[in-house]
Amino acid sequence: MTNPANFLRPLVDLVLPERCPSCGVITPMGGDFCAACWAQLYFPTEPWCATCAAPLPFLEAEGQQCLTCMARAPVHDGIRTVTAYDNISRQVALKLKYGGKIGLAKLIARHMIRHLPANRKGLIITPVPLHWTRLWARSFNQSALIGSALAGQSGLRHIPDMLVRRRRTPLLKEMSAANRRKIVGNAFALNPRYSSQIKGARLLLIDDVYTSGATSDACIRALKKAGADWVQLFCWARVLPNHERDAAQISAGPA
Ligand SMILES: [Zn+2]
Ligand SMILES: [Zn+2]
Repeated sequence: MTNPANFLRPLVDLVLPERCPSCGVITPMGGDFCAACWAQLYFPTEPWCATCAAPLPFLEAEGQQCLTCMARAPVHDGIRTVTAYDNISRQVALKLKYGGKIGLAKLIARHMIRHLPANRKGLIITPVPLHWTRLWARSFNQSALIGSALAGQSGLRHIPDMLVRRRRTPLLKEMSAANRRKIVGNAFALNPRYSSQIKGARLLLIDDVYTSGATSDACIRALKKAGADWVQLFCWARVLPNHERDAAQISAGPA
């Protein structure tokens, strides 16, 4: 089978965008959001769930968890997102994925750096893989581009082909959470090339958008089953309950 990592190599040379990645206006410094779009982006901050970093209205006690994490211990060891998923962050994700704006990966990585854990010893960055047929059609994996940029900026190691996608899964967009989990359940496996390096490994799994967690959970399960010790998910945009509604209320002005 063709090695998916081979497709990534010609694309390591990333170019910074000179325009605001959201509205397209030329930015004075180049390579970042314009002031207007920046002000509209929502960067989740504390107080948040001690486990998954979902924002909480207030913190009642140290180590407090959100309802989701309290209901069932998650498979991941934390989620870190740059922004909440909304109109602006969605545009950025789409431009990176389909519009060939691969320089956006550097921008996203720059905003991810502040979420890196204090203990970076031995940390390895790895992306959620695309099935090779999708990789072939699109010619790059947007999450691997982000991973590569983050590695370049942080000095951490990046292994773009640590996980392999065993089968192509249909697009999950319109599916229920239960269906998503069933479909991606065992779609991923460790690339046997890394079986000697996975024992006790600490990993940052990169995804562009975090929606239901079905895909990333399946990846993390595969990594942990193979021996990984700790896996934290890093994404550009995360779907947060109520965020779009709140954003619409804010832009509509006071009632
Ligand atoms: Zn803008
Ligand atoms: Zn949580």
